[in-house]
Amino acid sequence: MRPIHSLSSAVLVSVAAAVASGTQAHVLSPFTCPALSDISATCPLPQSQPQPRPQEVNHKPSSIYHRTPGTPVGYYGPSDPTEPPSPPPQPQQAAAPEKDKNPWTKGPLCRRAGHDEFCAFTHTTFHSGRGISLITTPTRMLLLGSQPPLNETLSPPATPDTPPPYTDVTIPGKGIGLVATEPIRAGRRVMAATPAVMVDDKAFRGLRRDDLAMLLGQAIISLPAQHSARFLNLSASGDDDVRTQFDIVHKIFTTNAFRTPVQGVELGENEKIEGWEKEMDYQSTFVEVSRLNHACAPNLGYYFDSATLSHRVYAVKDILPGEELTISYVDVLQPSTTRQSLLAKTWSFTCTCPRCTAEAHLLDESDARARQIQQLRRELDDHSVSATPEKAELLITLYELEGLHVRIYEAYYRAAIEWNGVGDSGRAMRYARLCLDKGLLLRGPNRPFVDSMRELVADPTHHWSWRFRLKSAQEAKPTAV
Ligand SMILES: [Zn+2]
Repeated sequence: MRPIHSLSSAVLVSVAAAVASGTQAHVLSPFTCPALSDISATCPLPQSQPQPRPQEVNHKPSSIYHRTPGTPVGYYGPSDPTEPPSPPPQPQQAAAPEKDKNPWTKGPLCRRAGHDEFCAFTHTTFHSGRGISLITTPTRMLLLGSQPPLNETLSPPATPDTPPPYTDVTIPGKGIGLVATEPIRAGRRVMAATPAVMVDDKAFRGLRRDDLAMLLGQAIISLPAQHSARFLNLSASGDDDVRTQFDIVHKIFTTNAFRTPVQGVELGENEKIEGWEKEMDYQSTFVEVSRLNHACAPNLGYYFDSATLSHRVYAVKDILPGEELTISYVDVLQPSTTRQSLLAKTWSFTCTCPRCTAEAHLLDESDARARQIQQLRRELDDHSVSATPEKAELLITLYELEGLHVRIYEAYYRAAIEWNGVGDSGRAMRYARLCLDKGLLLRGPNRPFVDSMRELVADPTHHWSWRFRLKSAQEAKPTAV
């Protein structure tokens, strides 16, 4: 991501150096307490804070790995007031196997937002020593940590992609970006990265800014040194409210965060845990993905896979060596002025991609095509008005002319529906196949349109759209895409 705001490199170096030399027992020591009064009220001094004993933090036996339905959920970590004291060690007992030890450590500070208490938890050996931190409630941590992929005793980490087909390069006017080092065919997975830090959306929205910044600092500094240093080297947009090292960490996080909904464990029929939901929103930052710069017709697409907790990035077109790898930060179907306005407001930069820097008369054509795409989508999705397969074919052409490979599965979907709608099963199945081929790369398998296209391919005549254009509009039951 481009360095919009030139952060104080000295500050970053000092934090990174402190990370490299610091120990996990003094999580907050690398940070200097800010002098500002509103922050000093909450800033911990290491000597005044009770530090967890290493044997409690790092080797605390846990029940979370083998939680059975009905087991009461207690607080996590050494500050648990309800936890009975540990029995004295039994010399004759064999040491517990490594897999039975709780790999999670909890920072010494927690912060409240309303009724919820949020803490920073870190698993330093997660994903072969890459490490991960979460800011969430102790209850959610306990349950999330008990299931794959965070519980690696149940789900060993996948073998990482080696070597990656790209490298970091300084790009004039953009800062550091990623550039292909070999040909990358459309459809190839380029990366599948797990987050550096995940923040519970309730904490993200509910905590005071300074409290969240403090927990983020704790979460980042507790990661393995290499991972935290890479996080601290990410760029941050804007220069407002950057006063302390905590502000910088907060700014880096908010500049680079992605929404990452996580599926929770299914609770038993009679189980009810306050604050536990089937799907929980988190905001996460990934050091590799955050290196990808923006383009309005990107060559990569991505989605977050909750099952592996990984941000999966795929090539949507063939990429040549030396070509920059890009994703889109905004809705690419919007007109250029709207895209530029959003990018400037949120990330403080002006896009210089080909779609934005064409000559004026070509830019006008591009915007006209974007407007026509929006119009056609409205017509095709409104089954009470007349639409034809030809309009869906035109939609595909417009996506192609704009280079929007990243979204073209949406046009294929509508073409499949329209051709099936007039009873042409052959063309309908062809476009359904194309929709699946591209859409699975960009949205993953757990989407309604994937099920719908698979049903159409299996038997077009039993799909809801079969000959629907020849029937009354009320009989059609569309699936959103
Ligand atoms: Zn652009």
